[in-house]
Amino acid sequence: MATKFELSELIRTGHFIDGQWVASANGKRFDVTNPATGEVIATIADGGEADARAATDAAARAFPAWRDALPKERAAVLHRWHALMLENADALGHLISLEQGKPFAEGRGEVLYGASYVAWFADEATRIYGDLIPQQQRGKRMSAVKEPIGIVAAITPWNFPLAMIARKIAPALAAGCTVVGKPAEDTPLTALALVMLAHEAGVPPGVLNLIAASRESAVSAVAAWLHDSRVRKITFTGSTPVGKYLARESADTLKKLSLELGGNAPFIVFDDADLEAAVSGLLVSKFRNGGQTCVCPNRVYVQSSVYERFGDMLARRVAALKVAPATDPNAQIGPMINARAVEKIARHVDDAVSKGARVLAGGKRLTALGPNYYAPTVLADATGAMQLSCEETFGPVVPLFRFDDEAQAIHAANDTPFGLAAYFYSQDVRRIDRVARQLEAGIVGINEGALASEAAPFGGVKESGYGREGSKYGLDDYLSIKYLCQGGLE
Ligand code: ADP
Repeated sequence: MATKFELSELIRTGHFIDGQWVASANGKRFDVTNPATGEVIATIADGGEADARAATDAAARAFPAWRDALPKERAAVLHRWHALMLENADALGHLISLEQGKPFAEGRGEVLYGASYVAWFADEATRIYGDLIPQQQRGKRMSAVKEPIGIVAAITPWNFPLAMIARKIAPALAAGCTVVGKPAEDTPLTALALVMLAHEAGVPPGVLNLIAASRESAVSAVAAWLHDSRVRKITFTGSTPVGKYLARESADTLKKLSLELGGNAPFIVFDDADLEAAVSGLLVSKFRNGGQTCVCPNRVYVQSSVYERFGDMLARRVAALKVAPATDPNAQIGPMINARAVEKIARHVDDAVSKGARVLAGGKRLTALGPNYYAPTVLADATGAMQLSCEETFGPVVPLFRFDDEAQAIHAANDTPFGLAAYFYSQDVRRIDRVARQLEAGIVGINEGALASEAAPFGGVKESGYGREGSKYGLDDYLSIKYLCQGGLE
């Protein structure tokens, strides 16, 4: 049986329910488009309440056998899925570029990144230990065992069409849970392809089910899971307002939640920093995926004495970034995901300029390339009065704020409801310790812009949500602890 697929073979147009590709119960379909050109890539099933319920029914039927499979049996299936992802990394990378717009090298990199979580949790599946509790009374044995929480609903965003869903499905399956999922309406094709490979790898029917849905249909599809008491957990990556909605709506059935929400990350450059390293770190962290990641620095604070120099160094590097369609092998930044995204970026930049920001690089749309391109931009003299200081821009825009002392920088960095990632550059060991402790964030980059790793816990504090993905902690979100007390032993 062939295990390496052509791109065309990976494009699926149905929902995947109970091991079968099926149309929507109501026959509805929607278009998936290429953000670089606006062309339709595929027209696919548009799921609603009935499809979501059918997926839950399948997941409920499959749960007992998957829960009771030996951990090493679940691990073997996950390892096979991992191998298939690697074997098909080129085709999957192209598919990511096609529907999401990121350059191919980044798309392929995302496949390897997502696959690393599958391998990690395949191994973790065999290490789910409980405890034998030191004896408290004669004749009694007390222990704590970890059990899969039940059916998990996974809802994911468009910016990492493969990695976000892989790092939810992998721990869920490793723990012995069954899954119902819904990828983002802009980028469902990669997730459908991934599920196809999971099926090829031997994930049994009903264990993993995926519904595609347009933005309109998503509400009723997801509501069917929110209100179904058989679904015991929601794992979501996306915006804070939608995360809060999911938390409210699942309160009646008291589901466990993992919420990876919005960022608004600060990036602080102290005057004792290695400025070259800080510029390079900022480029890596800010311009990955064209600035469309939740851990992207959104506010860059630079100490007054190095402010102008840092701005000049950064602007030179940013102006040299190559903006082009994903198909261009030299592309470093592709199109933004859709018209709404470019409009928000343009609104933020125009608002900042009208309030006194100086454009050091970019500052405009690149309409000659297509409708959704925006030039990588550096803005000096940013202030707290500008929209981009409090809202995530989610695009290739670096606003530079000025600060005088450490306390001021920390206050400004923490002055946000969000707390996902934060970064700072300094070469003073005492300062590094102080600042790392004071930053209100789930993830802190210290003299480093690239933080992603399957071995590290990813997640936020404050209104960036709760729960951790990856690392030895990542399985906890999918497990519940059962206390066993056995008496009559004497
Ligand atoms: P973004 O602004 O990046 O699109 P969203 O939070 O709006 O982030 O979307 C993330 C995911 O949540 C997507 O899969 C989207 O379809 C889904 N989603 C958005 N709104 C709702 C809703 N009201 N009910 C259920 N799912 C939703």
